Amino acid sequence: MLQRVAVIGGGAAGLCAARHILSRPSSFAPPVVFELSKSIGGTWCYDESVGTHSSMYRDLRTNLPKEVMNFPDFPFDPDLSSFLPHQEVQSYLERYCQSHDIRPHIRFNTPVEKVRLEGGAKKTTWQVTSSDSSGHQRSETFDSVFVCSGHYSKPHIPQIPGISNFKGQVLHSHSYRFAEPFSGLSVLILGAQASGLDISLELAKVGTQVTLSHARPRLTFPLPPQVQQAPGLEAVNQDGSLRFQDGSVGVADVLMFCTGYVFSYPFLDGTELGVDIQEHVVTPLYRFLFPPSFPSLFFIGLCKMICPFPHFDCQVRYALGVLEGSVLLPSQAQMAAEISQYQQKKAELGVERRHLLVMNQDQWEYCLDLARSACFPPLPPVVRALYEEVWRQRRIHPQNYRQINYRLVSATQWEVVEPRVEK
Ligand code: FAD
Repeated sequence: MLQRVAVIGGGAAGLCAARHILSRPSSFAPPVVFELSKSIGGTWCYDESVGTHSSMYRDLRTNLPKEVMNFPDFPFDPDLSSFLPHQEVQSYLERYCQSHDIRPHIRFNTPVEKVRLEGGAKKTTWQVTSSDSSGHQRSETFDSVFVCSGHYSKPHIPQIPGISNFKGQVLHSHSYRFAEPFSGLSVLILGAQASGLDISLELAKVGTQVTLSHARPRLTFPLPPQVQQAPGLEAVNQDGSLRFQDGSVGVADVLMFCTGYVFSYPFLDGTELGVDIQEHVVTPLYRFLFPPSFPSLFFIGLCKMICPFPHFDCQVRYALGVLEGSVLLPSQAQMAAEISQYQQKKAELGVERRHLLVMNQDQWEYCLDLARSACFPPLPPVVRALYEEVWRQRRIHPQNYRQINYRLVSATQWEVVEPRVEK
């Protein structure tokens, strides 16, 4: 009997899941991909109106070069430059979708509202309830579920005492689209991770005075003169002025939170799954993928600080190996123990619980491990090598690292094909 799989989300992760399910017709029926919007692409589907799923902004260029960003079996157009405008990524995903004939399996405008456990003691199945554009609800049974609903759409807004005293505009980067409306204003950006820094640089170009407020060590690379740094924001005073952690006071017309996003799975019941779904962490999940008691419900792409598309590809192949039985899992108790050991090790290293899903360096060993366990070709070492080089360049040249173009020479080597940015 072919297994029936529900895929929740038609972004990069969901398309990747669908592509691999379709490639195994002797094990799986064609998937049902539920997509709440009218398009594929998720994050990459730019929408000028705010309040939608996507957090994409008009002038965003990728922060990874196309040479490492692609799914391992589907390269970007080699004639493109390395760092792409978001439209090119959307076109790439459209091509991926078309090449693998995924579209007929996507139900657009069909949000999943509920996923519930079904079935008897012998076999778990899942009841997936969705509603179509006319509001018609439908519940169907699946053998497994791939949760590919993304986690960059529900803003994280930290508590700032006195925030209601602020007299100007307050927004989150989720609602930022382009710089022009901020021209001539002063903007306090909270957070200096990827989007905080990128948006500061965009705003500086249109003559915005930017204060980049963050709790990290002072950034030492060159920033444009319009961008000042400040410590973390402590509070907003009664008169609407801003008080920073070093006691200094400032003013701004706009306060923009570039403070990241929180996990949100309104269609899941964490208690039923034995999973704690918090704002910054979802646990316990074996290999960051599934609850130990339910190796048929997979979260794809939950981890942060990863090379997303290759990572999704590894996770999907591993998950399908689990479903097909070619990946042999330890006992439930062993999986739970492994997760606890990992968390304990992280705690000993001083990693806060809220950062348990931040992978960074660990991502490579993790992907390799998935590949070994499920017997698929591991990512070529050049992916890591170039990813790390780009991170290095980003730290030194946040303003112009995207001008470099790269080329992969072999499975281990890359080269620059245009002059490297001067040190
Ligand atoms: P998403 O792209 O968010 O897709 C999830 C899909 O699920 C959406 O289509 C959504 O509509 C759908 N959905 C959600 N809930 C439901 C539901 N209940 N029912 C049905 N459908 C649902 N990555 C890179 O590799 N390079 C970059 O340069 C890069 N830049 C980024 C810049 C920004 C501003 C952001 C926010 C992210 C960036 N990323 C980048 C990371 C990016 O999120 C991933 O590359 C990837 O697109 C995530 O794919 P996903 O499928 O997990 O999630």
